[in-house]
Amino acid sequence: MSRVYNFSAGPAALPEEVLQQAQAELLDWHGSGMSVMEMSHRGKEFMSIAAEAEADLRELMGIPESYKVLFLQGGASSQFAAIPMNLLRGKGRADYINTGSWSKKAIGEAKRYCEVNVAAEASMKTPAQSELNLNGDVAYLHYTPNETIQGVEFPYIPETGDVPLVADMSSTILSRPIGVSRFGMIYAGAQKNIGPAGLTLVIVRDDLLGNVLENTPTMFNYATMAENDSMYNTPPTFGWYLAGLVFKLLKKKGCLAAMAEIKERKAKKVYDSIDRSEFYANPVNPADRSWMNVPFTLANADLDADFLAEAKSAGLVTLKGHRSVGGMRASIYNAMPEAGVDALVAFMADFARRRG
Ligand code: PMP
Repeated sequence: MSRVYNFSAGPAALPEEVLQQAQAELLDWHGSGMSVMEMSHRGKEFMSIAAEAEADLRELMGIPESYKVLFLQGGASSQFAAIPMNLLRGKGRADYINTGSWSKKAIGEAKRYCEVNVAAEASMKTPAQSELNLNGDVAYLHYTPNETIQGVEFPYIPETGDVPLVADMSSTILSRPIGVSRFGMIYAGAQKNIGPAGLTLVIVRDDLLGNVLENTPTMFNYATMAENDSMYNTPPTFGWYLAGLVFKLLKKKGCLAAMAEIKERKAKKVYDSIDRSEFYANPVNPADRSWMNVPFTLANADLDADFLAEAKSAGLVTLKGHRSVGGMRASIYNAMPEAGVDALVAFMADFARRRG
């Protein structure tokens, strides 16, 4: 068996230890005689898996008691609609910050349910707090702390006073400690830093629940999901279990403070290798560069195909940038070992020397 270094933005690499544990437990989970995939979600075995995953996540992120943690389906994209449905609470307006492709999608969907005030717009950088045009009587402010496609990350958490702050943390969750109490709601698709695709995490403050837009589908109602411990219907059991294994591993590795340290070191190595070279470039304002997704271009785009093919031969895969921006993108979530980053940096230097 030979595993590659997979720089995909999502579904992304999972920790090898987790895959091995899942493999070892696949046919017979802890003497139950069956796989987690085959268990009733209401049986005591799965209930214990579910409860432990939530407890571990609460510990890792320091989630206060006054927040619900929901394990849902439908991806972060479903939340683009569920957020206005649940959080407008009788108000007709919400603030949105637009920093790239995923912000735009969230805005487009919200416009179907309410008036959207674009509080700030910025390209290849984030707006400063002083540039936010916050609109007073709004239900919430939504932003995307890390734009996965553009590789733009907020270096600060916006200050919104009494207005609940809603964050799409799909590509930054679990990469560092954050103060959950600064947020009204945090959500994330799992397939980057949490586990396999098919699971979506929602962390939402209690007092925001229970006043949904008329005609909200039951499956989109956070209060219903919370009352039923995310088991109003059959939850994504295997994804929930795998996420639980990831949470345990993160605890073993020193929790989110340790992740932040490693992350910063890994990202710095890639950005340094770009900045050192005339051959590579990154278009993002240095203070707003993502720790997770590093887009870069080659001085000569005609060499893109060769770069990708040679990287693949060297065991470095999925480095092609998103189709909307072109170039390359290296996603370096928690599960990307530092050795993978070192191999990428060495390959980039070698390629530039030979072909630049
Ligand atoms: N938001 C962000 C920041 C993302 O990176 C993605 C997925 N790449 C999404 C939302 C959409 O997530 P999903 O595919 O789970 O709907």
